[in-house]
Amino acid sequence: MTPSVYRVRASSWGSLFDCAFRWEGEHLLSIRKPSGMRAHLGTSVHAATAAFDAARLPGAEPIEVDAAAGVFVDALRKPEREVDFSGDELSLSQAERIGLALVGIYCTELAPRFEFVAVEAELEPLDIDCGGGIVVRLTGTMDRARVARTDGGTVIPDIKTGSRVIVDGVAQVRGRAPQLGTYQLMYEATTGELTSGAQVIALQTSSRPAGAASRVIDARRVMVGTGEAPGLIQHAAAMFRTGLFPPNTQSVLCSERYCARWNSCPYHE
Ligand code: SF4
Repeated sequence: MTPSVYRVRASSWGSLFDCAFRWEGEHLLSIRKPSGMRAHLGTSVHAATAAFDAARLPGAEPIEVDAAAGVFVDALRKPEREVDFSGDELSLSQAERIGLALVGIYCTELAPRFEFVAVEAELEPLDIDCGGGIVVRLTGTMDRARVARTDGGTVIPDIKTGSRVIVDGVAQVRGRAPQLGTYQLMYEATTGELTSGAQVIALQTSSRPAGAASRVIDARRVMVGTGEAPGLIQHAAAMFRTGLFPPNTQSVLCSERYCARWNSCPYHE
């Protein structure tokens, strides 16, 4: 029997374990929603950090913080994807002020703490055999993640933006393991090099911009499981095999503003 192959972007994998019903809507049924201003602010900050870090890779020509700030302003003012500017969450000038502060914090305080060897690396596809003739093929790049050399080995730091990514000065890792573990597995399969963990570089897009780097976590273990408990890969395989993608009305993204499937989802109040 020829297997049915679902091609899935690796960067979306983490959200499968937040609300699988929303994930199915967005990634298998193509139900989409324009970005809000805060998400667009995050995308624009990412563009600037990627330009700054790529210019610091071995053999590249470093750029100044001002140049990274210019990349940010361009990305903010000329979006490549549809953005809903009508929402009341943030004005363009507020977003610009917050983003410029974050780019400054990132380039001067956070990036110098890392020795990056890859930025948004291309990954070889990774197949997950779900049984029953179904294969999930994870594809794409590391999106907003980097590869860093540390005294403890190779680590995958992933940049996260949002209004609640830092609590009491600590970068939050809760709920990040599925995506980070996927990157660890795919990077290892692509390069043959073992990773020792992953971490979050958090950039807070609230009215008080801040940055912090988390501790290193073993996100790979969460994906592959332990002797006693199955990994998330096995849970995901069961979802694809059965076609049952459970909703999660407790998700922080379970709202009309953030969920593309809100209007047709029968599970929320
Ligand atoms: S409305 Fe809530 S439960 Fe329904 S798909 Fe969206 S996030 Fe999931």
